[in-house]
Amino acid sequence: MFSLHGKVALITGASSGIGLATARRFAAAGALVFGIDRSPSGEEGFRMLTVDVSDDTALGHAFDEVALEAGNLHIVVNNAGIQPLGVDFVNLTPQLVRKTLEINVSAVALGHAHAARHLVRGGRILNTGSFVGLLGVPGGSIYAASKAAVIHLTRSAAVEFAPRGITVNCVCPGTILTPAVLGIPDNPEIAFAERRTPLGRLGTAEEVASAFHFLASEEAAYITGAILPVDGGIAAGWERYDLVTPPNAVTGEWRDDL
Ligand code: NAD
Repeated sequence: MFSLHGKVALITGASSGIGLATARRFAAAGALVFGIDRSPSGEEGFRMLTVDVSDDTALGHAFDEVALEAGNLHIVVNNAGIQPLGVDFVNLTPQLVRKTLEINVSAVALGHAHAARHLVRGGRILNTGSFVGLLGVPGGSIYAASKAAVIHLTRSAAVEFAPRGITVNCVCPGTILTPAVLGIPDNPEIAFAERRTPLGRLGTAEEVASAFHFLASEEAAYITGAILPVDGGIAAGWERYDLVTPPNAVTGEWRDDL
């Protein structure tokens, strides 16, 4: 079940966090994995190409190199991203807007363009969104908007790639224990997310990778255009909602005579 034997996968942002966990998991499921990252990784078990995804010429060459070396390409995971959360609109700068959109949106859109040139029939495109692409959050500003764009790119690509049997899906992580979150000293987001997440804890990179694994498998062949939260329920609703039962319902029935 969920075997990736004989599949060739290319994963961006594979040196750390969610991308690294996904690369390890795909390799363990039998895939030949190529990772792309601007920082090299010391990881064995898959090949890394050092590329900044916002350099589209270099990204295109990396796709060409993988397809040439492996002879095929079955799975593309557009995962590399930066996370400038906690930046209010008053502090937003043109530089931050440009950089966030370049890495989180343009490189993902162009990742689809490169995937279109190389993916086999029945291939898979998987994108990393975020729960903040589904909800308004203070300090989300351009980061949250970039992830909303990834969600919509997923839907557009799903319909466009469908005639080739290529599925396109997006996983929206909640707050995940990766260097992006753990690397912030005394990060208050951790305590907040523990309190606010219905399941009461942060997620792990492996839990996000397992969703990617399922969506990459043959078993997920009929799923496309899906936006899958892997977030402990944080996008499902409020953790607290101050309600009182109206007198009409106190007995467990609805009484119209009150
Ligand atoms: P991470 O920082 O651990 O890993 C991100 C990787 O992407 C790093 O190895 C980094 O070098 C690489 N990268 C960044 N910019 C790049 C570029 N321009 N070119 C090539 N590589 C680049 O972070 P993570 O938490 O694993 O994040 C992975 C994805 O998950 C991102 O898209 C992020 O927005 C998304 N995400 C993370 C969380 C979370 O709580 N950690 C939540 C929702 C979504």
